[in-house]
This record gives sequence, structure tokens and C-alpha cells, in this order.
Amino acid sequence: MKKFLVLLIPIIMITSCGKQDNPFFGEYDTPFGIPPFEKIKNEHFVPAFEKAMEEHNAEIERIIKNDSAPTFQNTIEAFEYSGGMLTKVSNVFYNYDSSKTDDEIAAIAQEMGPKLSSHYDEILLNEKLFERIKSVYEQMEQINLSSEQKRLLSEMYKRFVRNGALLSEESRTRLKEINQRLSSLTIQFGQNILKDVNSYRLIIENEADLAGLTKAVIDNAAERAANEGNAGKWAFTLHNPSVMPFLHSADNRELRKQMQQAFINRGNNNNDSDNKKIIGEIVNLRLERSKILGYNTFADFVLEDRMAGDVTTVMDFLKQMWTPALAIAKAEAYDLQALIKKEGHDFELAQWDWRYYSEKLRKERYDLDEEEIRQYFELNTVKDGIFMVTNKLWGLKYEERNDLPKYHKDVQVYEVLDADNTHLGILFMDFHPRDSKIGGAWMNSYRKQHVDQNGKFVSPIITVVCNFTPPSGDTPSLLTYDEMTTFFHEFGHALHGLLSDCRYLSLSGTSVPRDFVELPSQVMENWANEPEILKSFALHYQTGEQMPDELIEKIKNAGHFNTGFSNVEFIASAFLDMEYHMISEYFNEAELENVASIINKRTIEKYGLIPEIAFRHGSTHFSHIFAGGYSAGYYSYLWSGLLDADVYEAFREAGNLFDQETAARLRNTILERGGTKDAMEMYIDFRGRKPIVEPLLKQRGLL
Ligand SMILES: [Zn+2]
Repeated sequence: MKKFLVLLIPIIMITSCGKQDNPFFGEYDTPFGIPPFEKIKNEHFVPAFEKAMEEHNAEIERIIKNDSAPTFQNTIEAFEYSGGMLTKVSNVFYNYDSSKTDDEIAAIAQEMGPKLSSHYDEILLNEKLFERIKSVYEQMEQINLSSEQKRLLSEMYKRFVRNGALLSEESRTRLKEINQRLSSLTIQFGQNILKDVNSYRLIIENEADLAGLTKAVIDNAAERAANEGNAGKWAFTLHNPSVMPFLHSADNRELRKQMQQAFINRGNNNNDSDNKKIIGEIVNLRLERSKILGYNTFADFVLEDRMAGDVTTVMDFLKQMWTPALAIAKAEAYDLQALIKKEGHDFELAQWDWRYYSEKLRKERYDLDEEEIRQYFELNTVKDGIFMVTNKLWGLKYEERNDLPKYHKDVQVYEVLDADNTHLGILFMDFHPRDSKIGGAWMNSYRKQHVDQNGKFVSPIITVVCNFTPPSGDTPSLLTYDEMTTFFHEFGHALHGLLSDCRYLSLSGTSVPRDFVELPSQVMENWANEPEILKSFALHYQTGEQMPDELIEKIKNAGHFNTGFSNVEFIASAFLDMEYHMISEYFNEAELENVASIINKRTIEKYGLIPEIAFRHGSTHFSHIFAGGYSAGYYSYLWSGLLDADVYEAFREAGNLFDQETAARLRNTILERGGTKDAMEMYIDFRGRKPIVEPLLKQRGLL
């Protein structure tokens, strides 16, 4: 007994001193290991982050200082399991940062952001650590590893190599310089757009110029003008909620032109927020970075790590969509021109006319009443619909648990059970806007599924966060059609997390390439859009009646309206992105400022973009590729569509949208697998072949 006492003392000391009772310092003593939200205070984060980084560094040191030769266990697994505390703190903090934020959380995020990024940089550039990883990597075929272990090892090795681990000291130094410069240029790019947006106002003084706009849009513009010292006038901005209704509905053609031109010229005004020169520099630096790492172009570097795999695959796919989309867009342009003529005008359809006249045509042909549709999408009815669909597909069951910790009182907590009643995970659902939540809808995890160091299966804790129309007065939360499909979409991401059955955390759940991650989410939208399924859960919130067939039919047809335009403006931007990143020669100093116009012109001419349609995102405000993570990756949105439509087609081919064999295969080959296998291989495991474009063309009305 005494022997044990000696061991116990330090443990007691730690717990009784309590480290200021910071819940991140010990094990969570809660059901399912849910974070003890009621005990977590903002002041716990910084000390926990600091301690966690220290621990992580110590763990890395231990790996490096290990006297034994590098092995899979003492190096690869040891590195995989390192940083556990950091993951634990980050999981809570970054969820708070988006769904339970306040000034303190925002300030901590500002403070910790650079510290964390340099913490991870140090690790990725740690030569001794890389030497050990490389040594195990080189023995990969000789040692006995499972396929998942091989994947862990090769992904880990690749991550270091793609960050420059194999380069000479000199090249690595240059790489660091490039990274720093790129990081400040991309931030500048985003800020410039914001400056242009914020400084622009269309001020309307004459009430007649408001003709065509709805009362809500007009009131909003009046309020803005009044707030900005222009009482009695109307102010419009380049933010989407202001500019889009204007382009859709304002009768005054000259003002539509002004707004549209200002909108597409964000970042292109030859002022101090002009982005043209920045684009030239970014494109050159990305090329240089890729060449240092041994690639011919930036696109080659990026795509090697994606499901699509290479430039040819991406370009072939985009062209397969482009050709029919462009043909349909031309036919749409013809219809719009006819409408213009019918109204007694003789001008030619221009970019600032398309949204306006297509809106008129849409109203004439479909006239959907959003308010009528929402009556059938009460939040709880939709939730039951999702539960029903996933139950029929995989036998999943959902038990509401009011006894478990949650981070906000409005959050709903469910225990998700498998068909045989085994526990799969915990699901939080957080539906409505509040001040502490950012906009949009997303899925995230408080804990990703994995098997821990001791071989214990750790189940996932997943959250779905939305900003759906809240209930008001006696009216419950009634979702728009978009919100309804968004719910299905996010639930698909949640399933990817919940059904995950992987060994290593870094490969589990949604840890997959960017052009693959939207597959589980987008595929769920197909069930939502399916008339026979829609009918089973779209019940009127007052009468309980099913949505009428004519309304469902109308929604379906309206979905394909203007599809030529929306696909063309989107694919054109995907081409633009690729053209910037397929270059293999540097632009010279004199050309730098003209790179944007060179590439714009090249893209328009090469693919035959018609002048009536502008790029969805033009060069000088294309923040996805110049300020975000979608460079040589804007195609990903379409690629996910390719996958989801083709996966859903497998259910149609089986003759049953709930075909059990197909559902089980989808689960076994994709939903459970995380990133434990090459994405294309997983896809082929499910489909028996690579994805084909026809189902997507059909889904989008392009066939
Ligand atoms: Zn998504």
C-alpha cells in the first residue's frame, strides 16, 4: 500500500493546487468527455494554450532525443499523438471564436493566431524531427504497416516536404521570405477590396430612380443614407445585400450600369487600394515557390495534393461543363434580348441587364412565393425529415439528451446511435443567429473520432451551427428553401464526422482534400431536393398537409432557370483562377501591373466568354484565390458537385433512393474512411470507376 501512496502524492498535489482550476489542465470529468462548458472561462484559454505549446514542444524534444533508431512507433505515432493538449484547447477555443465569441475571445484569437502559426512552422521546419520521419519513410516498404499506417506516414512526410524540408538552407530561407511576403500581400489584397467597398456609395436623390425596388430595399437604403448624414436620400453599397437587389430590380438602366461597373471594378480603381500590382507580385511569387519545390507551375504544386490530381483532369472537367453551359447561356441571352425588344427598347443586352431581365422572366414563368414555401419547412419538421432520411439509409437513431453539458442554452444536444444501438457520437445543433455567433452555417468538432494511444476508441463530438430564421411571436422557425437544403448539407458534414471509423486523428472525419470534403455534404442535398422525399417531410406547420405537387414541380423547374448564366459566370472564374496558376514563365517588372488584364483577356478569348456575362469573381476582387485558400482550387466547388451527383446517381441506378447495399457501401468506402486513403481510390471503391460528368449536367439542367 505504501508503494502506491508515494505515487499518489504528486497526483493529489496537482489536483488540489488545481492550477487555478483550469479545466484544460486535467481530464474532463463529464459524460462522453464533453468539454465541461460551465467551468470553462475566457481567462483559461491563454494559460492553457501556453501550457499546451510547452507540452507539445517537450513531446517533440522527446522524439528527437530518443536514443533508439527511428521507428514507426517512436517517431511517426509519437508525433501523431503529440500536441494532444493543444488540440483539446483549440477544439473548444475555435468553436467559441465562431459561435460563442465576445471581445475577449476575439482579442485572444488575435493574440494566439501568430503564436500558433509560428509554433507549427517551427515544428515543420525542425530538421532533426524531419530526419527521423524521413528515415522511417525510407523503410516504409520493409516494415510491416497497415494501409492506414502507411497513409499516416506518407501524408506526414509529404507535409514536411511540401513545406520545404528537403531543400537546402538557402532555398528554405528564400521560401520563408516568400511565405512572409505572400502572407502580407494576400492580407493587403483583401483589405483593398474592403476599402473600395466601404468607400463606395450610390446616392439617389430622386425618388423616381428607385422604381422597381421593393419597399424593404428602399427603406434600408433610406436608413443608411440618414445614418450617414444624407437624410431624405437613399444610399446603396457594394455589399451583396444592397447591390444584388439593385441589379435584379432597379428599372433605371443607367444606374444599374453604374452599380454593376463599380461592383466588378472593386480593387481596380487606380487608387491606393488598387490590387493590380499585387496580383502580379502574388502570381510571380507563387510560381517561384513552386519552382523551388520542384514543380513547373503553381497549379501543379497545388493539384498534386487534391483528388483531381493534375491540371489536365481539372481543365477537361471544366470544359465538359463549359460547352453546354455556354450554349444554354447564349440561348438565355436570346430570350432576354427578345424580352427587351418586347418592352419596346432597342438596346443590346449588357452585363448590367442580365440579372434585371432574367428576374422579370423568372417571375413571369415561375413566380415562386418564398413565404408560401416556408410554411412547409418548420425547423423541427425538417430536422425530423433529416433524421428519417439518415435512419432509412443507415439505421441511425437520435436521442435528445437534456442532461449533458452544452456551450449555450439554445443548443440542442443529441446522442447519435447506430442501427444496433451502439453509441456513435454526440451531436450539437445550434440553429439561430445571436450576437456571439458569426454568420453562415458550418460543421465543426469538439473532438474528432480516433483511437487513442492506449487503443481506446474515442467517439466524436460534432457541432452543426447555423443562422436560420428564428421563431418570432407565435410563429415557429420557418426555413426558406435555401435554409432547408443548407441544413441537409451541414448534416452531411456532420455524418462525415460522426460515422468516422479511423485510427489516427489527423486522418479521421473531414481530414480530406478540399475538392473531396464537400462530397458528403452535397450528396445529402439530393435527398432534400427529391420530390417524393421532399413530400414526406415538407408538412404545413399549421395544417400538417403535405406540400402540393404543383408547388414541388414549380420549385424543381425554377431551380434550372438561368442555369446557363450561373454556370458560365462560375466556370469562367474557375478558368480565370487556372489561367493565373498554370503559367510557367515569370512576368517581368514592366508587365507586373498588367498581369490582371493579360490574364483576363486571355481567359475571355481562349474560352469564348460572352460580353453579356461578367466573371462571377473578377481578378481584382477574386479573394478566394488572392486572399483565401482557393488558389488553383476554385474548381473544387464544381468538382464536389461532380462527385455528389454521380454518387447519388448510384442510388438511382440501384432503383431505390434508400438502397441498403449502396448506402452501406457509401458508408464503408467514404463516410467512415476520413482521409485514410487517396480520395480518388476511395471514390473508385464506392463507384467502381472515376466520376463522370453526365449526372452533374443533368442535375444542373445542362443536358
Ligand atoms: Zn459544406
